[in-house]
Amino acid sequence: MQEQRRSRRQHRPIEVSFEFFPPKTPEMEKSLWEAISRLAPLHPKFVSVTYGAGGSTRERTHATVARILNETDIKPAAHLTCVGATRAEVDEVARAYWDVGVRHIVALRGDPQGGLGGAYAPTPGGYAFSTDLVAGLRAIGDFEISVSAYPEKHPESKSFEQDIEVLRRKIDAGATRAITQFFFDNDIYFRFLDRVRAAGITIPIVPGVTAVQNFKQTANFARRAGASVPEWLAERFEGLDDDPATRRLIAAAVAAEQVFDLLDRGVDQFHFYTMNRADLVYAVCHLLGVRAAPDEAATA
Ligand code: FAD
Repeated sequence: MQEQRRSRRQHRPIEVSFEFFPPKTPEMEKSLWEAISRLAPLHPKFVSVTYGAGGSTRERTHATVARILNETDIKPAAHLTCVGATRAEVDEVARAYWDVGVRHIVALRGDPQGGLGGAYAPTPGGYAFSTDLVAGLRAIGDFEISVSAYPEKHPESKSFEQDIEVLRRKIDAGATRAITQFFFDNDIYFRFLDRVRAAGITIPIVPGVTAVQNFKQTANFARRAGASVPEWLAERFEGLDDDPATRRLIAAAVAAEQVFDLLDRGVDQFHFYTMNRADLVYAVCHLLGVRAAPDEAATA
């Protein structure tokens, strides 16, 4: 008899994590907390909070991470970048996290100060690269450190070999998990995974999954970030610019198809880029079998 697809079997130990961005306005703060409250009962491994370009959200990221720590039982991870700050300033941010009890940092170089796609120049007196930041964090405290990985390679890297070498250096410096840039074609992820494993790297390379809430926005961002947008994906959203309700259903179907295929092919850890909205991610987690305990289940 043919073996049942992994995604159709029960009781899978699946680990999920959720990424949020710090809110700018009281309204955004309210919707972020609605999203966190809805997703918290799913017991994510951690939730992470991004750090605005050039440290522009330093206080807001800190405040959001601290509130998660104080008001939920979820473990927060704070993103931290090298751009636009001296080592002393970055160290101060990291120490402040350590002092309030944050034990997980997502350590990144950050985008060039001129914005995504511009030329990168290290900040004078700052950590030049993510590799340096990881080493610096290690010297401050026994943080769990996650870093980025790029299944389609980082746009500034000359080759996959360079990217994988950088990943190795981040691990040597103390990183224990990589979270990938989002991708839509799972073969791209598995080809990258093959390269990484062939290079002897064994840490989890957790796929970053984005639920496409707004196709045009996602496609625009993907192009700048060096992530490809397949023609078939564009076709699925074609003609729906003025039909948000159908777009949401399509987005859920697309995300479900992607995670089921990843699951069938052996993946059991997922990082969701939530865009601070819970519904779609909650539904996809439900499909994955990630559920709240009956007495914790949130209502929509
Ligand atoms: P890195 O791994 O540091 O690589 C960037 C480039 O530098 C590559 O081309 C690499 O080859 C090169 N490089 C690295 N180390 C060296 C070295 N020692 N010597 C020479 N070259 C080197 N951005 C934000 O501003 N805030 C966020 O919160 C944020 N969160 C993110 C989360 C995830 C999961 C991902 C995938 C990205 C995130 N980004 C964030 C975007 C990220 O900052 C940008 O993509 C940035 O351009 C690269 O930083 P990095 O740490 O991802 O890349």
